[in-house]
Amino acid sequence: MPPSFPRPTAYLEAMLHFTFDNSYARLPDRFYARLGPTPVAAPGLIAVNEGLAARLGLDAAVLAAPEGVAMLAGNATPPGAEPLAQAYAGHQFGNWVPQLGDGRAILLGEIVAPDGARFDLQLKGAGPTPFSRRGDGRAGLGPVIREYLVSEAMHALGVPTTRALAAVTTGEEIQRETPLPGAVLARVATSHLRVGTFQFFAARQDTEALRLLTDQAIARHYPQADGPLGLLHAAVAAQGRLVAQWMALGFIHGVMNTDNAHVGGLTIDYGPCAFMDDYHPARVFSSIDRFGRYAYQNQPQIAVWNMAQLASCLLPLIAPEREAAIEAATEAVNAFAAAYEGAWLDRFRAKIGLTTADEGDADLIQSLLGRMTTLGADFTRTFRGLATGQARAEFTEAEAWDTWATDWQARLAREGRTVADAQALALTVNPAIIPRNHRIEEAIAAALTGDYAPFHRLNAALAAPFTLRDGDEDLTLPPRPEEAVRTTFCGT
Ligand code: AMP
Ligand code: MG
Repeated sequence: MPPSFPRPTAYLEAMLHFTFDNSYARLPDRFYARLGPTPVAAPGLIAVNEGLAARLGLDAAVLAAPEGVAMLAGNATPPGAEPLAQAYAGHQFGNWVPQLGDGRAILLGEIVAPDGARFDLQLKGAGPTPFSRRGDGRAGLGPVIREYLVSEAMHALGVPTTRALAAVTTGEEIQRETPLPGAVLARVATSHLRVGTFQFFAARQDTEALRLLTDQAIARHYPQADGPLGLLHAAVAAQGRLVAQWMALGFIHGVMNTDNAHVGGLTIDYGPCAFMDDYHPARVFSSIDRFGRYAYQNQPQIAVWNMAQLASCLLPLIAPEREAAIEAATEAVNAFAAAYEGAWLDRFRAKIGLTTADEGDADLIQSLLGRMTTLGADFTRTFRGLATGQARAEFTEAEAWDTWATDWQARLAREGRTVADAQALALTVNPAIIPRNHRIEEAIAAALTGDYAPFHRLNAALAAPFTLRDGDEDLTLPPRPEEAVRTTFCGT
């Protein structure tokens, strides 16, 4: 029998109509440890995501009520939940770690939304688990605010991602370099299946578990995929498209370990991530990434490496004969390049307003990026400026823009389109508002004093990143030199 969990209150039972169907909890015991969240001293609401609550068929007002907040903090368990911590392994910065697992996250269950779509509901920062190693199982207010803002911004930007249903404070202090207020993020995702989940079982030569995991991944992400090889092809293609989207937004994930590589092609784990201000392809933010392994420009190669790890896990399922399995798996991993490059070109063509493909397009785009690198032009403002006619101002030497724009206009003419046509398209794909690091830091600093207004303001602006609302102009500005944040920290 599983240990006893905090019971759902009658209120939650009556008011919150969770429809849980916990397919992961039906997998064998070795996939997880069954346990509930550890209750906290004094739950306090930071935010409930109304749009996401509605998507899930949940009542945001009930979530925001004291009983709902208690549930979001882990002090009450919603009806139908079967809480557990998932087992996984992973390569961290290239080093093999045979056992990681949810050290501070509890999967409450899988919500089946009114339209039948299935979502994990997980509490991150919910207390220690058998996978915590030396950690306390908790999350700090700063990292919770960062993940809420950035994951929801990614969603609004059209990038597949885990999402934030709610954030609450715990009323407890956690010990980091300094004492910090504790918080819990209610994370929602179409699954939490990582490359590292496959690695956990592959390392134990548990072919039966790999088979079950393959079925689960196909059911949840790629219902059209045919068997393990089909899964691999689909995961590789999804990863290629995902990384192309990151690149087209100037996003640096920062910790692309295989335990943070999602088999369904979602962005997961918003620890030391950042959107670039001034463009440089070698940019790194994470203070723990000392060798720049996860620099902006390295992301596609790292994604391939991660996919090769997934492929190697699936080998015993792909074909009985090892040589044949390796050949098929290699071909699948090699398909990353085409998926990534195709998606990268599509995204960047649209960013400069092109609707057709021309052989010289990659060079034209690289020429712009090269000028931006040399002059340190702001990534987001340059592309937004291209759409609004103000890009020239982003270059400290205007000639760099002018000479590029001449080539660009010639290319547009070949397509039979005007600059205005191109700008109209570019306006729909080049955001005005991204979660700039200094703004996130500002929201966190205010939250630490109990003022959540900057968090709510930024969050509201990020929900519509392609529309600049009156009064939000300051959110489009790059940091002043004294505001620039050069490193972010791991979210622990
Ligand atoms: P991350 O760097 O967030 O991807 O986490 C890597 C591993 O460390 C995962 O197994 C996490 O569950 C675990 N971990 C991170 N922070 C904590 C913490 N405060 N307590 C326990 N485990 C943690
Ligand atoms: Mg992680």
